[in-house]
Amino acid sequence: MSRLRERGLFFGTSATVTRNNVEQLTSDEFIDFLIEQGVKYMWAFHYVPIVRLPDTDLMLLPEQRAYLAERSAYLRLNKPLPIIDFWNDGSYTEGCIAGGKCFFHINARGDVEPCAFVHFAVDNIRDKSLKDVLKNPLFTAYQKGQPFTDNMLCPCPIIDKPDALRQIVQETGAYPTHEGAETVPSGEIASFLDQRAAAWKEVADPIWNSRQDSPRCCIILDNAVTVQATIASFFVTPGLFLFSICNCEVVL
Ligand code: SF4
Repeated sequence: MSRLRERGLFFGTSATVTRNNVEQLTSDEFIDFLIEQGVKYMWAFHYVPIVRLPDTDLMLLPEQRAYLAERSAYLRLNKPLPIIDFWNDGSYTEGCIAGGKCFFHINARGDVEPCAFVHFAVDNIRDKSLKDVLKNPLFTAYQKGQPFTDNMLCPCPIIDKPDALRQIVQETGAYPTHEGAETVPSGEIASFLDQRAAAWKEVADPIWNSRQDSPRCCIILDNAVTVQATIASFFVTPGLFLFSICNCEVVL
């Protein structure tokens, strides 16, 4: 980071937030350290058990996820470091943006996945044009289901609405694109996610309802663009995103 700062480069950080580090990563000390290092923005990605040999113990507990949602909002207002809390900030993007709504992901083998975290596909880019892939049953089903919930603190069909992803995979016959991906919609991981989603919903619903009754805080950019546009711009073009972040200031 010191080399990036010394050479005047614009850079940010991306952190995986787990049950073991959520308080440390969002502490004043760590955020101040990042600011001192010249970091201009921070992505906070919750750990999700979608990888080979997943460890569900690393997932945030519902009360930790609620803490992160509140803490991220606090930090956005009190530190010059925009934080994007990927699974808790669904309100800024009107929920899930995958499946070609705003973005999709092509893995190294060419499988076209709805999202970088959803390791399923029905097409490979080597066999079809992108235009045709975007109209395929998987992407169509995804967009038909969006938003997957009314509560934008629970936007994700992987961890918040697992039955939605399960149904999409079953309906479209999507194939797993990574080892272990099949355990997300069925099996032990699926059961865990069902339980965790239900537990999070119980915590998230009162928070979401209370937010509807109170003024929202957001990052106001000096060109009057909101954080919603900032996040959305990332998916339009990273360059625009960087421009937006560069021009932002945190206010109430
Ligand atoms: S599938 Fe989940 S992780 Fe992917 S964009 Fe939708 S909400 Fe985000």
